[in-house]
Amino acid sequence: MVPTLEDLSTLMRLLPRHGTAQTITNYVSLTTGPKQAGDTEGPEHFHIILLDGGRTELLGSDMQSMLRCIRCGACMNHCPVYQSVGGHAYGWVYPGPMGSILTPIYVGLEKALDLPNASTFCNQCSVVCPVKIPLADLMRKLRERQFDKNLKSRTEKTLLVLWSWLAQKPQFYALLMSVSACILTWMGGQKRPHWLLALCRGVDRGSGFIRP
Ligand code: SF4
Repeated sequence: MVPTLEDLSTLMRLLPRHGTAQTITNYVSLTTGPKQAGDTEGPEHFHIILLDGGRTELLGSDMQSMLRCIRCGACMNHCPVYQSVGGHAYGWVYPGPMGSILTPIYVGLEKALDLPNASTFCNQCSVVCPVKIPLADLMRKLRERQFDKNLKSRTEKTLLVLWSWLAQKPQFYALLMSVSACILTWMGGQKRPHWLLALCRGVDRGSGFIRP
């Protein structure tokens, strides 16, 4: 919602072009309020009801820049993760990188634990965002909050300790990666046992990407 026609002009230059590369969108309503003296028709009263939904809590916080989001969807369209799994893959209202930040803020970090982690941190989302929201930085902050609040599962912590141990042994790491690459190449062949990938149930359940 923007207050002046000048603001609307700025918004119309940013939103449709970054969303779908169109010049205009039907998601914009232009309203001039109640009927003025001399008008032959128009509403007697005009009311706007704003549902805050947790937005004002972002004011003054380290997540405040998310309030600039105009919902153009550019971050999602350029994200390598969401390009593969689709916009609503993880089952929340707000899709893409911006949803990975907004959803945990609105519904609670513990209810949307996976979202800030569904990113490769390639930073493409921040680069294409027309209002310059540092999306990757914000996701990193949410991951830090998860860690500080001890919300990570024991399995994940154990796997990270193992990975960190492995990453400090480059030759062993390279050997293991080449063996894994061979196995994945074999599994990726036609008529290969895709059901093995169903072991990754955490990914499968939300994305619908791999079906057992
Ligand atoms: S975060 Fe930026 S790119 Fe993503 S929807 Fe919002 S304004 Fe568009």
